[in-house]
Amino acid sequence: MRCPFCGNIDTQVKDSRPAEDHVSIRRRRFCPSCGGRFTTYERVQLRDLVVIKSSGKREDFDRSKLERSVRIALQKRPVDPERIDQMISGMVRRLESMGETDIPSKVIGEIVMESLARIDTVGYVRFASVYKNFHSADDFDKFVAELRPTALRGE
Ligand SMILES: [Zn+2]
Repeated sequence: MRCPFCGNIDTQVKDSRPAEDHVSIRRRRFCPSCGGRFTTYERVQLRDLVVIKSSGKREDFDRSKLERSVRIALQKRPVDPERIDQMISGMVRRLESMGETDIPSKVIGEIVMESLARIDTVGYVRFASVYKNFHSADDFDKFVAELRPTALRGE
């Protein structure tokens, strides 16, 4: 696994343990060349999912993007991080079991809103308000940028 700080590919695993009630393995990694530490997760992936944007553009599904947007929506909310991990795994599991490997980005947005609504109203409102603006633009990267913490100031 390449070091995200210096790009060195020879990093070491310092610790491995089950996480999210054995849904994933969490590994603490150490980079001997820069001293950086980071964490990776290993999970079962049932299928390779592809996101279809409304423009028709296809993109490999990226769990970390989904995770980022959910974490930002729930920033400073009293939600247990473990609960967030479970929620994200649950959403991915739902996407993977939809019977199609090609999933419209709209469907993903709706699943996120549905899940957020169940665990935190404020997080749901944050996500939904940004989501609406990007319903037409349909660009998940812009969407995540819009959800960045500075957008949440003044609450
Ligand atoms: Zn490094």
